[in-house]
Amino acid sequence: MTTDPGLAPALRRAAQAPILVIACDYDGTLAPFVDDPTRAIPAPGAIEALVRLAGLPRTTVALLSGRNRAALARVSGAGAPVVLVGSHGSEWEGGFATPLDDDEVALLARVGSRLGEIASRTPGAHVESKPTAAVLHVRPVEDPALRERAMAEAMAGPAALDGVFVTEGKNVVEIAVREASKGAAIETLVERAGADLAVFIGDDVTDERGFARLRDGDIGIKVGDGPTLARHRVADIDAVVGLLGELAELRS
Ligand SMILES: [Mg+2]
Repeated sequence: MTTDPGLAPALRRAAQAPILVIACDYDGTLAPFVDDPTRAIPAPGAIEALVRLAGLPRTTVALLSGRNRAALARVSGAGAPVVLVGSHGSEWEGGFATPLDDDEVALLARVGSRLGEIASRTPGAHVESKPTAAVLHVRPVEDPALRERAMAEAMAGPAALDGVFVTEGKNVVEIAVREASKGAAIETLVERAGADLAVFIGDDVTDERGFARLRDGDIGIKVGDGPTLARHRVADIDAVVGLLGELAELRS
């Protein structure tokens, strides 16, 4: 893979941003894949570079992972001042997440009660309440016809309401009133910091939702091969560590 000629000017631009957010995926971006995911330790220098950047004025650094937040903290060894965001952007350190607004609270209550009605006429079904979502579980329902009816009712009813985000699985449907995606997480980081510019670095298909939501002037960097919406690309994890060190140097 050839060096991306646009990357050096992009890094210089990032270094000069009055308020900067740098968000990094973890696995495959800062840590090599290994058979045992609990042993996916960061590449040498990776966390040091993030901590150095996070210690600079007007600079927010976040790890943005599909892992749950506790596992991300454990495996990466990272912590404050680096912000850890887990579960594809839905899991934040206590107090950092934006609380639901009145409309979202009302919508969530409506979704929960509609799912509750469906569950009440479907023996074995239950509704799980999450902070930003309600989840209908029909796996324990013995009669397959009832199971299918409940799922169909959920999809045609509360899952079709305006403003919800639906994740349908086998015998489960989760209906959220707040989108959980790396894109939404980056937007939250940018809003919180009042950032002029965001850098997002990732290697996987789930990171594309992050690249897709970057603004003009933000800097998306794809790690490795494969189609991407990111404007920039680096070959591997070592190159990520190198560019983070270079950015820290330029911004110091
Ligand atoms: Mg990854």
